Amino acid sequence: MGPLNGATRRALLGSASRFALALLLLLAPRAPAAPRVLEAAVLCFPGLPSISAAEATSAAEAATQMARELLDLDVRIVVRAIVGAEAAFDRHVPPARRLDRTAPPTDQETRKMRAVLEAFLLRTPVRGIDALLPPGTASRWAEQVVERYLARNAALQRALGHDAMTSPRRALHCLGTWDRLMRAGHGWDLLVTNGPVLYAPQDGAALHALLRGGIIGGVTIWNIPSRTHGGAAMVSSYCLDSTEAGVAELRGRPPLAGKERVDALAALMTHELGHLLLKLPDNYRHANCLMHPPLGLAYLEWSRSARPPGCAECRPARRPVQSSSPSSTPSSSSSTPSPR
Ligand SMILES: [Zn+2]
Ligand SMILES: [Zn+2]
Repeated sequence: MGPLNGATRRALLGSASRFALALLLLLAPRAPAAPRVLEAAVLCFPGLPSISAAEATSAAEAATQMARELLDLDVRIVVRAIVGAEAAFDRHVPPARRLDRTAPPTDQETRKMRAVLEAFLLRTPVRGIDALLPPGTASRWAEQVVERYLARNAALQRALGHDAMTSPRRALHCLGTWDRLMRAGHGWDLLVTNGPVLYAPQDGAALHALLRGGIIGGVTIWNIPSRTHGGAAMVSSYCLDSTEAGVAELRGRPPLAGKERVDALAALMTHELGHLLLKLPDNYRHANCLMHPPLGLAYLEWSRSARPPGCAECRPARRPVQSSSPSSTPSSSSSTPSPR
């Protein structure tokens, strides 16, 4: 091999230094990726068990740990604000923009709800539905879910009418109004409330939400491009501590308090983090999985059933890449995918 000319020498030195740089980068200790930070706000309604700053922070810390252990998520939840819920709505969702969906569904809405549920139950196995509804065909089950929704929703509204649902504030307990609050320009990624939030047939036909008469423990909205994580989440403690008879029956135990209430709230937060940050869908099939919503309101048992290392089908490292819509629940609204 002859002597190298200047250009060849420079080229070789150039590739040698690039190789050395690549080697250095490969061998250098990796700085851990920064956690994803969520700004949280607590919005309390008067007349219901409140959520203190200390309780919200404890739940956020427990959710951080659950998200790491069950979903491989590195997050930090910062509780930024404790505000009155009514004041927050007054500021961000004026009365003209609120959606009162507490009226009973029309016959047409009821038929649509039944048809969507029937189609869903035909193609989706639902673990535990046999224990909840008498054995039947998809059409029979769909009919029974609708019947339960109508009866429980009416009972719930009668009970709530005596405290939190007094007009004209009842729209503040409808998911449609919460959707608008979550999209407002406050910058909160996670909203924590003590008030009831009701899912209506106009919001979709999510099986678990309808079986409970519409009461939900949380929801995630994905398509908010201006937001750091592309969406926002909400959780409610109402199902955990309400003394309303229908809620207590579905919960199967007295109102939660203290650490149990904080733990269940943390599980709800973690579930919504799975929706918001990993685009995980709800499912009715996985065993001991935090993304499998309970059909009733046994949130404490649900929170305890999910143990590290979490659900094999939901952990990102083992999960196949999803190319279709992230929601597997029979929801007709793409923006409000997954009531919890
Ligand atoms: Zn799972
Ligand atoms: Zn969900």
